[in-house]
Amino acid sequence: MSKTQYAMVMDLNKCLGCQTCTVACKKLWTDGDGMGYMYWNNVETRPGKGYPAGWSDGGGGFRKGQLVPGEIPPLEKYGVPFEYDYSQRLFEGKGKPVMPHVDPQYGPNWEEDVGETDREENFYFYLPRICNHCTHPSCLEACPRNAIYKREEDGIVLIDQERCRGYRQCVRACPYKKIYMNEVAGVSQKCIFCYPRLAKGTPNACAKQCPGRLRFVGLLGDPESPVHKLVRVYRVALPLLPGKGTGPNVYYVPPFNPPRRGNYGKGILEDPRIPWRILEDLFGPPVKEVALRLEAELSKAQSGEKSEVLQLLIGRDDEVRYRIPATKDAAG
Ligand code: SF4
Ligand code: SF4
Repeated sequence: MSKTQYAMVMDLNKCLGCQTCTVACKKLWTDGDGMGYMYWNNVETRPGKGYPAGWSDGGGGFRKGQLVPGEIPPLEKYGVPFEYDYSQRLFEGKGKPVMPHVDPQYGPNWEEDVGETDREENFYFYLPRICNHCTHPSCLEACPRNAIYKREEDGIVLIDQERCRGYRQCVRACPYKKIYMNEVAGVSQKCIFCYPRLAKGTPNACAKQCPGRLRFVGLLGDPESPVHKLVRVYRVALPLLPGKGTGPNVYYVPPFNPPRRGNYGKGILEDPRIPWRILEDLFGPPVKEVALRLEAELSKAQSGEKSEVLQLLIGRDDEVRYRIPATKDAAG
């Protein structure tokens, strides 16, 4: 356990799916050898298989305090990089928009890139993901080399690259599949929550670059931090797959879920736009209560009353979105 805990809140109502966060992270941390397939930050489409494909069914985490066996995803579940053939797609109206000499079966943003999915419902939303810097990290528990540690001073989970021997037990144990094996370096690697930036009082690159301004960063126990307010005071942000037992410290404001409209926008139907089971599978049963709380705040704002939580979620200024105490040791 750490004394304090950095956390991030992401408001899913504001994500544009632009992947600026993904690129910011990739340019900063994972453009080295053996890191091509690594997306410490990825943004996937829901419904969808995610990255790697089917990660949420890959086991890992804890059940009754015991590690749950998990899989090491094969490379096919990460997919291969491919180029689009724009001329074919845009000007000839042909099916798959990829180069003719490659036949990719999967990729990091598959459903959106190739428009292939079995959606019965006409909706989707984006789900940005990083390592959750869990309170009880199953990756740490599973490592036979004690190479993974959780920093006491801020709860960030890191891998000691000198101690790691690349056994990949952490990859198996992480229920979010947010650890990647670097075959060139022979070690596991993962999101470091931009700790060298935080040490200088600068927000994580993914948060700072996000044009949707949907990421909030701070210490969970700091009553003045936006993450404390959203998670503990207003209670509008929930962790992903809480049943995995690791205590994630990345939280999500779920999408608004108004009733569906009839064909051609006519009439309001009884069913919600997103079936509750999809949101409950991701964020657990409390998601319904949170969504209703958000709806109530929206009605309040629409009737001219002030909604503190919606004001906070707008998060126009950096000072509102981030509260990062600078430390002396910039190297952490
Ligand atoms: S998300 Fe996975 S890699 Fe990150 S701390 Fe939790 S168990 Fe470890
Ligand atoms: S940069 Fe922000 S808006 Fe764009 S995909 Fe990432 S989280 Fe979503």
